[in-house]
Amino acid sequence: MPPTPPYFQLPMTPAVPKPPSASHTSTPSNTTTTTTDQRPLPQPARKPLLRLQLHDLSSPGASSFLSLLSLPTCLDECIAGVLQHLYSTSTTTTPSTSIPPTRSVSLVLRSMPGVAFTRSLDLDADHKEIHLSTDYISSIPSSRRRDELLGVLRHEMVHCWQWNACGSAPGGLVEGIADWVRLRSGFVPPHWKREADGDWDAGYQHTGYFLEYLEERFGEGTVRGINEGLREGKYEEKAFWGERFGCGVAELWTEYGKSLKKKEEEEGGNDKEGKDKGDGDRGDGEETNRKSGVENGTKKEEEAVQEEGKSGGSHR
Ligand SMILES: [Zn+2]
Repeated sequence: MPPTPPYFQLPMTPAVPKPPSASHTSTPSNTTTTTTDQRPLPQPARKPLLRLQLHDLSSPGASSFLSLLSLPTCLDECIAGVLQHLYSTSTTTTPSTSIPPTRSVSLVLRSMPGVAFTRSLDLDADHKEIHLSTDYISSIPSSRRRDELLGVLRHEMVHCWQWNACGSAPGGLVEGIADWVRLRSGFVPPHWKREADGDWDAGYQHTGYFLEYLEERFGEGTVRGINEGLREGKYEEKAFWGERFGCGVAELWTEYGKSLKKKEEEEGGNDKEGKDKGDGDRGDGEETNRKSGVENGTKKEEEAVQEEGKSGGSHR
């Protein structure tokens, strides 16, 4: 198997501050998509060894991480959440055979540019390392820090357990699946939004929301099937999408765009109706604030993408 490329988590715009969470469990407080999945949890063939490396225990980012998240519980929950969304299981006692044989996950907290990335060890791809920037941790508004950390960890943990067609899958699809799991897990930054501009495989939440559209349209397990389809062999776009959906991904992307437009028109109509009926000023004001936050967030994220391109940190 060719070496697995590192996958990058782009810097995310500081989100609209929210009240701090009362507890230190990993229950997301910003849940826009929830699941009521009652299936038995998929089990890997063996429980991975979890490691933690702190390069500078005195850094504010490291101490904030340790005080906000309860280890190792939070990593166990993170892995369980990822496997739940990516894999199916037929019984409670048989390990799911399609889960990659990941043997260890090392979380490395250190000072570095950007947010986080995940890589496989050169000698053995079954050992994964998640690098998380302590500088980034310090930069997150404290009211959002815990949810953001859980979201970034969820995204990076997907890279430790997903398939990538032996390294031939489009980087945008790999990143989209990671953000789809983050979306499904409820750790959604306030600036995320559905959009169908550009290419379907632009990655991150752009592709993640497209995958969510496919999951809703074609049924529960659709994205699991996409991940499973990347388990073996080389990715061939036409065959990959045609076999699963009976049409090309470009067609699905166009239909996704149409569905978003239709939804926008319906919501626009409802907004107008609400205003005409004299709905409360408070609700309108909140909506305006939310929208302006989203726009700011998107712009900053676009700048971040350009920054990453300039520094040569491409993940494709
Ligand atoms: Zn990633």
